[in-house]
Amino acid sequence: MKKEISKAFESVSKEKEIYGMWEESGLSNPDTMESYLREKDIAVKKPFTIPLPPPNANANLHIGHMCGYSFQDAMGRFNRMTGHPTLLLPGKDHAGIQTETSFTKILKERGIDKWSMSREEFYKQCYEFSMKNAQNAREQEKNIGLSADYSREFFTLDPRLTKIVYETFYKMFKDGLIYRDKRIINWCPNCKTALADIDTEHEARRGIFAYIVYPFIDESDRARAKEKFGIEGITVATTRPETMLGDSAVAVNPMDDRYKEFVGKKVLLPISNREIPVIADEEIDMELGTGALKVTPAHSPIDFEMGQRHSLEIINVIDEDAKMSGNVPERFLGMGTVECSKSLVKELNALGLLTKIENITHEIAVCERCNTPIEPIISNQWFVNVKPLAEEALKALEKGDTKVIPSGQQRALEHFLKNIQPWCISRQLWWGQRIPVWYSGGKKLHDWLRENRGKDISEYTKETGLEVNGTGEIYIGENMPSDTSVTWEAEQDMFDTWFSSGQWPYSTLGGIEGEDFKKFYPAQVMETARDILFFWVARMMMLGIYVTGKTPFSTVFLHGLILAEDGSKMSKSKGNGVEPSDVINKYGADSLRLWYFSDALPGSNAPVREEKIKGNRNFVNKIWNASRFILMNIDETELDMVSKYEVDSNLPRVIKTKDHIENVSKYLENYKFNLGAEAIREFFWHQLCDIWIEEIKGEIKDEAIGSEIRIAKLAELLLILKENLKIMHPFIPFITESVWQELVALKLADGILMGKQISK
Ligand SMILES: [Zn+2]
Repeated sequence: MKKEISKAFESVSKEKEIYGMWEESGLSNPDTMESYLREKDIAVKKPFTIPLPPPNANANLHIGHMCGYSFQDAMGRFNRMTGHPTLLLPGKDHAGIQTETSFTKILKERGIDKWSMSREEFYKQCYEFSMKNAQNAREQEKNIGLSADYSREFFTLDPRLTKIVYETFYKMFKDGLIYRDKRIINWCPNCKTALADIDTEHEARRGIFAYIVYPFIDESDRARAKEKFGIEGITVATTRPETMLGDSAVAVNPMDDRYKEFVGKKVLLPISNREIPVIADEEIDMELGTGALKVTPAHSPIDFEMGQRHSLEIINVIDEDAKMSGNVPERFLGMGTVECSKSLVKELNALGLLTKIENITHEIAVCERCNTPIEPIISNQWFVNVKPLAEEALKALEKGDTKVIPSGQQRALEHFLKNIQPWCISRQLWWGQRIPVWYSGGKKLHDWLRENRGKDISEYTKETGLEVNGTGEIYIGENMPSDTSVTWEAEQDMFDTWFSSGQWPYSTLGGIEGEDFKKFYPAQVMETARDILFFWVARMMMLGIYVTGKTPFSTVFLHGLILAEDGSKMSKSKGNGVEPSDVINKYGADSLRLWYFSDALPGSNAPVREEKIKGNRNFVNKIWNASRFILMNIDETELDMVSKYEVDSNLPRVIKTKDHIENVSKYLENYKFNLGAEAIREFFWHQLCDIWIEEIKGEIKDEAIGSEIRIAKLAELLLILKENLKIMHPFIPFITESVWQELVALKLADGILMGKQISK
């Protein structure tokens, strides 16, 4: 047999070949791994599980996804190599609003208007679109070396998962946690959907600050005001004059001496000519504007709360298209909000009721997807009272059942849970899981009866002119109820996407009855990005404990945020994104992985550093070259003897190697990836290559081929190389497996490195 080892490590072709071999071995499947361990007579430890965050199936993966996969895979491989049948459970997320937005855009580019399609057709095409993206994402995951069990992969709209999501909804309904309510919601007039607070962003925009006088009704009040303020009313300042048409009060701080005497008095709302009261509320900031605030419960979340406290009337004046509607003077009906604001400013000015107008830049809430300013409106939505769930999640954190790395993020999570707000779970989308509710006689009737307690259906018919066939009751279930004597209207709203992904850790294991659930729940680790700590991790904890009684994972590891080279956030529009496939093709997957381990630490921001990745490639090449050198030094006639030689475990170099492996293992067990990555490089390069290989070269240089000393020394060197390959494998699986396979080809090793056990 002639020894032939290629001179350089060709990452592009080698990585594909190696991944194929791993797939063929089936060891990513924990059941296969377990049988493998038993066959080899290795003690089987308890399973190790990470439910992998399912990326959105609406685009290719970015460099941030690859970061997560690198950490998850390193943890998975290390556990697999220390006796744990390991499940890295992969999947793809349907990502409700985000996918619907991207796919709608794609349709538009093709000249197709979404609203001209049927919902069913849209759903079908969007599904195909998602499946294509899922396929691409899967390939990318494999490119970074992810050893996930693809036989257990799920898409979040899989009927098996939907069934479990529905069961949770039914349970919550039975427990009285689900309710329908008129609430102020964030409404995106462009996407036509309700958004949770965390689906919105804040942006600085130009606007106006208008000072408007609301004159007092009483003559004596007007006189007092004139004396005090120089005008006959109270001046309010607002950035949105158009909302004044829906005002129910003017609020001042009870401690504010300027206004104390006017609390309880009435003012005339200009233009609308409605009388509204002056109320006192401690939340009012005396320093802001004039210290007097107009209160519009229907169109501001803060005012809505205030309205609740003071039982103020809710007057809707802006509709879901961001047009003026309802009880407003006719000339404003149907106007856009900006146009209405301008008209009002003009009219108020003519009336002498506009005292000042300032141009300002202020923070406003915008839709996270399309940047359209959010319109807070009153709407009927489905809510979950998550308070009791949050309390349990908080307990799990306090008891240490779940620990968050870094600890600063644990405090942030605790704060979020302590201040949790009701969760609006309905979304006006076409893409997702339909909320399984049916309305007898229609949704409108149900909401009307709920809002008009004490009134009956005949009054509904009288007021709305609508004939109904039903009771206004609801039925909870996936399929239409069998009672056909009434007309059933299906709820068209979809679940918030986090309502399904929040159940990921147990729904993917078959729910609480599943065989996999019994084996793999709870998971040991949740590894994800910190920007979805509240969106996702908090929800998984709340829902997990609620449904299963156990927190879904014991450790939450939040890797750092990957940024563009200049330290700014990567974004498509800025064009400063880094394509993971470019980096992998150029430097190899291992080099990229090593960079993540050193730079993307929990709590950090990591601007992409190409120089560092390039430097990592030098290390990868060093491993190849040094290994090649060791192997080339073994004469073909010595191979058999070297492979069979029993190396004394008390040799100083062997002991030192063992200590090193123990060290790195500890780093991995304690999530100190940067220290581990540094240690393997330091040891391999500066201990093994720089010192020991040179030493051994000297020790055998005068020995004849086949001599006992040569065999002993070469066997020692081989053992050290193999142990190094094993401990480096979780970090840099491709190069280490490639070298291992060279050993296998020379019969100096067997099997595949991925399944080997790290000797601690
Ligand atoms: Zn939007």
